[in-house]
Amino acid sequence: MEKIIFLYHTKKCYMNCGFCYAKTRACNKELTQKEIFDLAQICKKNKFTVFALTGGDPFQRTDLKKTLMNLKSLNYITRVDSNLIHYTEKKLISVSNYLDWLCIPLDGHNEQVHDSMRSKGHFIKTVNKIIEIKKICPDIKIKIHTVLTKKNYKSVMKMKKMITLINPKIWTIYKYFPAGVGEKNKVQFSISDKIYKQVKKAIGKSSKFLIDMPNDKIHDKTFLMVEANGTVYGRYDAKLKRYKTYGTYLEKGIEKALKEYSLKRMDKLYHTETGD
Ligand code: SF4
Repeated sequence: MEKIIFLYHTKKCYMNCGFCYAKTRACNKELTQKEIFDLAQICKKNKFTVFALTGGDPFQRTDLKKTLMNLKSLNYITRVDSNLIHYTEKKLISVSNYLDWLCIPLDGHNEQVHDSMRSKGHFIKTVNKIIEIKKICPDIKIKIHTVLTKKNYKSVMKMKKMITLINPKIWTIYKYFPAGVGEKNKVQFSISDKIYKQVKKAIGKSSKFLIDMPNDKIHDKTFLMVEANGTVYGRYDAKLKRYKTYGTYLEKGIEKALKEYSLKRMDKLYHTETGD
């Protein structure tokens, strides 16, 4: 059974997406290099295989290379989820020997759609950076993330054409889920299960890359997250409208969470998130 752990590598995200699933966008502190290594060792003991650094933007931190080197020394499959705000060609080249996956958000086929969900100018910058990344680091596997909402579901077939040109390894389309800081914006973003199923049918498959459209169950007993300050959390409780927290990794948060998680769902997540 394989597992992925997600760590918020920075204490603040500089974007303000209205549908954001993050428990909070800002933390009081971020783990030091040594603390990340301690967490990674604990996760290794608990048989996690993939260590994903998320943000906002893990490129924000100047010690990203050291973090990835440490993770590789523990034989992790490494992944960075980045909105590319702080990405530069130089930074990517410096980490390229230690990075397996780069996951990038794209929510529309043009700037009107994408920028209406992210921020003005983000679409053009992101597409240009993806083209550059594929050229300078062709061995880093690219995964595109899309959040399906009221704003983009009608143009998703046009998006499929654009993603086909980008040709990532995986395109994951998450249904907007009213969690985290995005919970209050559900009127603006929410789509029904019926629409989601229709889109799933229309999107179909691709002969070039894997298309994954997980259902809402993914928010329960599947994703395990660690906040930038070391608090372990997951399992969204729809009644309480919040994620469950398990204490910090030093307070055995990982072990406590795993007692409630589904190893089967975590393993499935690993396979769909890595295409393995
Ligand atoms: S969705 Fe990602 S990029 Fe957007 S605000 Fe949330 S953490 Fe930041």
